[in-house]
Amino acid sequence: MRAAIFEKPGLENLKVIDNAVKPKISEHDVLIRIKVTGVNPIDHFVVSGALPKVNPFPHIPGAESSGIVEEVGSHVNTNNLKKGDRVVVHNKVFDGTCDMCLHGLDMLCRNGGLIGAITNGGFAEYIAVPEGNVFKIPDDMDWALAASLPVTSLTPYHALKDASLKINEYLLVLGASGSTGMIAVQLGKKMGAIVIAVSKHSWIKNDFGADYIITDYDKVIEKVKEITNGKMADVVINSLGVNTWDTSFGSVGINGRWVAFGGLTGAEVQLNVQSLYSKQIKLIGSTGGTRKELQELVNTSSKQLKVRVWKKFKLEDVKEALQALFAKERDGRILLDVA
Ligand SMILES: [Zn+2]
Repeated sequence: MRAAIFEKPGLENLKVIDNAVKPKISEHDVLIRIKVTGVNPIDHFVVSGALPKVNPFPHIPGAESSGIVEEVGSHVNTNNLKKGDRVVVHNKVFDGTCDMCLHGLDMLCRNGGLIGAITNGGFAEYIAVPEGNVFKIPDDMDWALAASLPVTSLTPYHALKDASLKINEYLLVLGASGSTGMIAVQLGKKMGAIVIAVSKHSWIKNDFGADYIITDYDKVIEKVKEITNGKMADVVINSLGVNTWDTSFGSVGINGRWVAFGGLTGAEVQLNVQSLYSKQIKLIGSTGGTRKELQELVNTSSKQLKVRVWKKFKLEDVKEALQALFAKERDGRILLDVA
């Protein structure tokens, strides 16, 4: 089969071949013919070697897959899965037996990891995954959205739920026109919040429903104060890392929640503990989401969520796709059109 594959870490070692071994399925697995995959920073980390524990080698990356069921194992009985079903892949390996899994927190499985990192991923014609990772999607869902559910949508959805976002609260989203940011804005609106987007791109307000937009990162605290009449934000999402730490933490109001699921510009920050306890601020780390939450997203997202696609690359242009992640002019999602 065709696949993007590398034998040792480094973007320069990633190549597309026609004779990769087609994965075999066991009794409880599902073989999926890939249609479209999301391209995310995690894929870049896998290929570049920034992520330890990549396995197996040679390795096929790709953490966010959508496609069509090609074959089901003899013992598969999840949701009557059958050949031809349109599906997305929950990208977490989990054992179903550890204490985290028993709590329903399968993305925190003590014996787990990421599909596409500790297993081969979806930058290939086919992927084989356990039946518990396969979720059917509606016929009318477009592939761009499908390939944006398992990582790009699930991550901010879980984060907003973990931050207990409530109706009429102020939600501040930094990096609002990024992949997860544009979804956080839409989900924040659906959850009843007043959404303040920090972005240079006006479409996040005009097309994606943000109530306010702040275009200047230097004026975020001042503008949030103005918009909220001095109360500041109830929930702040900042996955941009150290560069925006001061701005984001300074925008959290009394009893507010600060939440991150990434740290793009670096992870080491200085925390003023007095501000933290005197305002009773909660710092929340968030990673991925549960299978239940992915099912909730699938159930509600077909007509109610959208993604702005900046560029769609063919599989053979996978290197350019990964490089484009960090392009200054980037303005929306990057996808790989595999089929
Ligand atoms: Zn587990």
